[in-house]
Amino acid sequence: MRKKIVAGNWKMNKSFEEAKELVGELVYSEYNNDVEMIIIPPALYVSELIGLVSDSDIKVGVQNSSNKESGAFTGELSASMVNSVGANYGVVGHSERREYFGEQNDILAQKVSQLLTHNITPIYCCGEVLEDRENENHFALVKSQIVEGLFHLSDQELLKCVVAYEPVWAIGTGVTASSSQAQEMHSFVRDVLAENYGNEVAQNISILYGGSCKPSNAKELFACTDVDGGLIGGASLVAKDFVAIANSF
Ligand code: PGA
Repeated sequence: MRKKIVAGNWKMNKSFEEAKELVGELVYSEYNNDVEMIIIPPALYVSELIGLVSDSDIKVGVQNSSNKESGAFTGELSASMVNSVGANYGVVGHSERREYFGEQNDILAQKVSQLLTHNITPIYCCGEVLEDRENENHFALVKSQIVEGLFHLSDQELLKCVVAYEPVWAIGTGVTASSSQAQEMHSFVRDVLAENYGNEVAQNISILYGGSCKPSNAKELFACTDVDGGLIGGASLVAKDFVAIANSF
């Protein structure tokens, strides 16, 4: 059985007070017990928020971390630091990191390894821009992101990862991939994983959908065979919406 996951990527939003308020609401909300709920706040808040969720099942992750182990890398945050405050997840290769910070698959592959070395579950993001889809290059592009970012891992290492498919044209735009577009790509990603790691491994990897996922469309997306949950941006900033999404399986 694959884990069902809803992960809230807060991006660069919320003051510290607002962040604590949101977590306070989530902790007291009722949601499906089978679902792993993850919040991914700005790194500055992670340590404090971990304390606030400690009596709940909510897990905490970071939006980014370094490909280096430690040392003179001003402004960076290492996987070992993430582990040392008790966080469990780390997003790698979000399209905003790829686009605005020039992160490429080779560096992302190193970030994935760093996280695994320090017992953090990577949430590895892939996804095409609209132009790729219009040129029918979306499958090849996503495949290259998967191959170059993850295929250095052993079976055992890959089994510790989560993949998130986020079509860039759907992120923050209000335009969601249709459930058939999502299912088609999720099944393709699983096939790509199966080609290299075998079907049993591929069947055990949770693949999340991200891109304008909200309470009104989550049910239909999560009903797809190969969609195991969501990486949620905007809708994760409002407790009732995020909880409604968690209750959409
Ligand atoms: P969105 O963002 O839900 O606001 O579209 C998703 C993401 O970037 O992870």
